[in-house]
Amino acid sequence: MAQPLLLLSNDDGYHSEGIHLLADALESLGEVWVVAPDRESSAVSHALTLSRPLRLGQITERHFTVDGTPTDCVTLGVGQVLKGRAPDLVVSGINFGANMGDDVHYSGTVSAAFEAAILGVPAIAVSQVVGKEFSYVHAGRFARLIASRVLERGLPAGTLLNVNVPPRTPRGVRFTRLGKRVYTEGVIEDTDPRGRKCYWIGGGAPVWEDIPGTDFAAVGAGFISVTPLQLDMTDRDQLARLTEEAAGWGLEGA
Ligand code: MN
Repeated sequence: MAQPLLLLSNDDGYHSEGIHLLADALESLGEVWVVAPDRESSAVSHALTLSRPLRLGQITERHFTVDGTPTDCVTLGVGQVLKGRAPDLVVSGINFGANMGDDVHYSGTVSAAFEAAILGVPAIAVSQVVGKEFSYVHAGRFARLIASRVLERGLPAGTLLNVNVPPRTPRGVRFTRLGKRVYTEGVIEDTDPRGRKCYWIGGGAPVWEDIPGTDFAAVGAGFISVTPLQLDMTDRDQLARLTEEAAGWGLEGA
């Protein structure tokens, strides 16, 4: 049987440490290919570049860079670099920093995994929560373990796994739901050297609501968090409610 085909990407860029550790960790599982942004692209979410051409840079036989977003990388990885061979698994990361709760909506790391799910490929996003001390060792080991399980057992179509690894030696693994981030410092106003006002988004220390069963709670307690995320964002309860209730809203008369 042919070896499993793995495609790796990230949003920290090809030159970040995390993706090379991930490639090393997954090496023994199959044929590992890397297609990553040529520069730091964190928080670009699911952006797809449509307004300009993209360039592929070849670093080694199986390592490539793209002057685009993580989503561009997965798209070019599957559509161009692998020459039509469908990967068995896409793994995104290891991201420097957490991707939990509401932050998954900004995350390029998670979006690369979502892009794989759109293309019908099982996917895992892996993020290393950063503390005063941290090491990628446990994230690499766990990425290998969970990747091998997903290769064996698969994932339901449209589902991906979002993994966050605590800074210190993990106490175990928790399956979780997304938590709720509290944004402490939304926008910081500053003045540039020419006296014009400018603004920085974010910068405050991350604070989250203490809700049991969430990714934040698991990592806060020292566990690896695994959150299944789904591509289909339809709110099924509301769909049923609206179908019934909105019959009386007079929407048909527009
Ligand atoms: Mn990042």
